[in-house]
Amino acid sequence: MPVVSVRRVPEYEDEALYQAVCAHFEALGVEADITPDTRVLLKPNLLAGRDPSLGVTTHPAVLRALIRRLRELGAKHILIADSPGGVYTAASLKKVYAACWYLPLSELAELNLNTATGEAGGFALIRPVMDADFIINCPKLKTHGLTVMSAGVKNLFGCIPGIIKTEQHCLNPNIEDFSNRLLDLSLVVKPALTFLDAVECMEGNGPGGGKIRLMGYTLASRCVYTLDEAAASLMALRPTMAPTLRYARKRSLSDPAAVELTGDPLVAADPPFLLPDAITKGERFFSINGLFHHFFGRKRTYPVVNTERCIGCGRCAESCPKQIIKIQERKAVIANKGCISCFCCQEMCPAHAIETQRRRAW
Ligand code: SF4
Ligand code: SF4
Repeated sequence: MPVVSVRRVPEYEDEALYQAVCAHFEALGVEADITPDTRVLLKPNLLAGRDPSLGVTTHPAVLRALIRRLRELGAKHILIADSPGGVYTAASLKKVYAACWYLPLSELAELNLNTATGEAGGFALIRPVMDADFIINCPKLKTHGLTVMSAGVKNLFGCIPGIIKTEQHCLNPNIEDFSNRLLDLSLVVKPALTFLDAVECMEGNGPGGGKIRLMGYTLASRCVYTLDEAAASLMALRPTMAPTLRYARKRSLSDPAAVELTGDPLVAADPPFLLPDAITKGERFFSINGLFHHFFGRKRTYPVVNTERCIGCGRCAESCPKQIIKIQERKAVIANKGCISCFCCQEMCPAHAIETQRRRAW
């Protein structure tokens, strides 16, 4: 039976996090898998270079606690690696590590700067994913403008190098195909453990521009799909709303009836997590009307630039899979045609300048 270990951790305090890691490892039998030669990869969510207090990225204190326990178990080779949004270069990685307060972690483990890539199961992958013996997937619990929730499965998208990620959006422009691709990717990466940072979570316009929601939990599981089921319960999210959960069930990757929780009680958010505008303004999931519009393409939710907030940094243009954003007179301008409503632009905008609008396709 898939087990999810649940531990309350009210804040990012080193000793409390370490105790939680020890309890999770014991509950899930992690100790038996770690030897001095095991090449351990910690894969956090480093979406972009943001201060940890903004709730966008996996908090460095979570990594610190994991590394402490792994070292006690004898692990000699511990690497931290992710491919943030935008380009995948050593220089851009250094900037992200600095902004996310990861640089001090380099005294405890190696921070990846090698941008070599490989290929497995039809996916381009960052090299550390291919070289690791034991992958610990370390997501942050957030809402997401495309996939509704971002936890274990969605975090693995960062195993695809840099802007190659945008290809997957182009090849799978509808949410059903994209969610199934994420599940395909999870079956290739096969994390040995997923360890969720759900201490300070993000609600509203996640994954980059929402608000902090303090939940005070860490969750861990050997099964990434089961962990996501528990994470959805914590958000008080109807599982049918999150396409990766729906398809994981359909593909028999998860069975909510078989989930066993161990450790502290899991108390669902009350009120439920606020959802992104891109979801609440959209009609994809909710109404008969929405179903009609979904099939007949009459209205969709699209990004729109708030020019007062836009600082002209160009990160949206860099991340747009359809290359339909230009910077003109220091403001982002989105072309009328070609948008696939993936909201990568909103995800990467540091100024919260991408808003949403429901309208007919041009
Ligand atoms: S404009 Fe934004 S939502 Fe539209 S395709 Fe580009 S990144 Fe995706
Ligand atoms: S919309 Fe956001 S990401 Fe795009 S240029 Fe403006 S501030 Fe930068």
